[in-house]
Amino acid sequence: MSRWESLLVVQQHDTRADQLVHRSETLPQRAALADVGEQLTVLDGRIGGVEQRRADLARSQQRLEDEIASLSERANQAEKQLYSGSVTNPRELQALQDDVASIRRRIGQLEDDELEIMELAEPVDAERSALAGERARLDSEIERLTGELAEGEAEIAAELDTERRARDEAAAGVPDELWAEYDTLRSQLGGIAVARLVGATCQGCHLALSAVEVDRIRKLPVDEPVHCEECGRLLVRD
Ligand SMILES: [Zn+2]
Repeated sequence: MSRWESLLVVQQHDTRADQLVHRSETLPQRAALADVGEQLTVLDGRIGGVEQRRADLARSQQRLEDEIASLSERANQAEKQLYSGSVTNPRELQALQDDVASIRRRIGQLEDDELEIMELAEPVDAERSALAGERARLDSEIERLTGELAEGEAEIAAELDTERRARDEAAAGVPDELWAEYDTLRSQLGGIAVARLVGATCQGCHLALSAVEVDRIRKLPVDEPVHCEECGRLLVRD
């Protein structure tokens, strides 16, 4: 195989490897994961808001319960005193009774307030569990996509490995002095540095060379590098 044919084979493997890298970078699971990630960020914001509301309600409820407990304690003490027989003065007894009644009324009000808070908490709890369900769904979606992505990446990596090994084999038939130009042309011309000349047409740019140019090329020694006059790629002659 001529140096040019070998270089063309290297080019074919490099092109295939470029396509595989591009395919790996654009696996649909990547975009899907980014999308789910955004949904998760929004959802976590909503979950944070609901947790905050729920915590506020729980604190209010706790404050009421603490106050109810302390008032109940006071009412019990007053009642104990009332029924102990230690207070005999009717006016003092009356004041004590009024005090107990007033504390019990206050407790009743606080208990109503607590019920109100518990009612407010119901829809918040329902929203919280709905959001937790949504989060579990997104988590399992991420897990699924991550697994699929890893599978896709592994498949492509194996194909890339095969391409690169075949490339190295073909590269052994290419003289060292050709690599610098090959690499430069590849970086300048969309990854394609070498193309076959079929008839008068360059397979790199698909333009036809002039008859004079084709005639000139035909007469050159086989090792002489030939470039397409249209695109500048190295041409491989039959
Ligand atoms: Zn060309």
